[in-house]
Amino acid sequence: MPANLSFDDLKSRVSEGSIDTVLVCFVDMQGRLMGKRFHGVNFVENSYKETHCCNYLLATDLEMATPDGYASTSWETGYGDYVMKPDLDTIRPVPWLEGTAMVLCDILDHHTHEPIPHSPRAMLKKQIARLKELGFDAMMATELEFFLFEKSLDELRKDGFRDLQPISGYNEDYHIFQTTKEEGIMRPIRNHLYAAGLPIENSKGEAESGQEELNIRYSAALDCADYHSIAKHAIKEIAWQNGHAASFLPKWHKDRVGSSSHVHQSLWKDGEAAFFDKDRDLGMSEMMGHYMAGLIAYAPDYTYFLAPYVNSYKRFSKGTFAPTKTVWSVDNRTAGFRLCGDGTKGIRVECRIGGSDLNPYLAQAAMLAAGIKGIEEKMELAAPTRGDVYEDAKAGDIPQTLRDATELLRNSKFLREVMGDDVIDHYTRAAEWEQEEFDRVVTDWEIARGFERA
Ligand code: ADP
Repeated sequence: MPANLSFDDLKSRVSEGSIDTVLVCFVDMQGRLMGKRFHGVNFVENSYKETHCCNYLLATDLEMATPDGYASTSWETGYGDYVMKPDLDTIRPVPWLEGTAMVLCDILDHHTHEPIPHSPRAMLKKQIARLKELGFDAMMATELEFFLFEKSLDELRKDGFRDLQPISGYNEDYHIFQTTKEEGIMRPIRNHLYAAGLPIENSKGEAESGQEELNIRYSAALDCADYHSIAKHAIKEIAWQNGHAASFLPKWHKDRVGSSSHVHQSLWKDGEAAFFDKDRDLGMSEMMGHYMAGLIAYAPDYTYFLAPYVNSYKRFSKGTFAPTKTVWSVDNRTAGFRLCGDGTKGIRVECRIGGSDLNPYLAQAAMLAAGIKGIEEKMELAAPTRGDVYEDAKAGDIPQTLRDATELLRNSKFLREVMGDDVIDHYTRAAEWEQEEFDRVVTDWEIARGFERA
């Protein structure tokens, strides 16, 4: 498995001239890499210590608009700076760009150098530290599903994103022949990411025309979130380099399957699988039961962190493999939580609620917090559901709209207690703004339905 570059490796590569550019990045609220391109020499001599960015970058929407209503940044306070502090353990080559390396940063207050509480990496680190106090480490894997399209992103944008044609003509779930046709894009994605130090497992065709999935081997939660963000970025960039588009919009057509990001989770103690107990039913330790009970009980509160846009909620519909119910089941893909690897050391829970648009730091932070709450309060896990869970009237519902999820987020005593009022107020504002923007728009559907007939 290729490792990251050490700072000394980077210095030698810069001095020999094989690396001349360092991408100094952080992950924003939407899960995107933002930052600057440094000349290699400047980075290894100076900017490795810190650089700066405008503090509006953790309060914009996807369009980079600057909504009001955030306590942390505003026109009134003049949009000052944050410190971007490179985490030198995350330096890696970027093999799909010539002469380029990358480093991820933590975002700190400009004056105090304290972590910014609503920065996604800080939010995940906080929950990892809380879990460590209980004696556990979290291992996670996030699946990345996405669609590839025939045309390039630039062409599609100029055409107003109309006439979207997926790259292939039929459902390519596990399909070797169909995915061979996509190897021009997928092989460089796997190989470049592997060479960048990501433990790539495989890619496979998914259950719709043009839909692919990338799997990365499970790893410590922070690494998993870093890998996800880098991989998502690379997939878009490599598809673009090849004249195609990759999209992580969860539902780009009402009649097509949506894209998700399932999150596999297990806790470990001193390198041993703490979710496993060979003497208990399904091989599930008592602690795993408590963790899952917390995950399930608080799922409505944290759904926003798994489904942050209006479009995210279009995925949740019956009979699509996207869940609608907050229950668990043993190896059953109709439930929100699926027990995998029962009876083995690989026992884990897969949360199936998240869309391909989730921010992995926020999703993992919220789920760890819920699991920790379950462990602390020794919450009781209900019996697993069986059969087609979509039809289970007794099972709890996943919020069906961004509006509902926003109110659950705003009013969550649990999230306010474990993440802080400032953080929850910040993300509630982001959620509200997204809905307000949507509510202002006159959609194609309204025009087609009412233009003549209303
Ligand atoms: P499936 O295809 O049924 O969803 P896979 O065997 O492909 O399941 O595994 C899915 C993901 O789960 C992979 O990324 C794998 O690395 C991860 N995984 C395996 N074991 C564990 C574990 N103990 N904890 C967390 N994730 C795990």
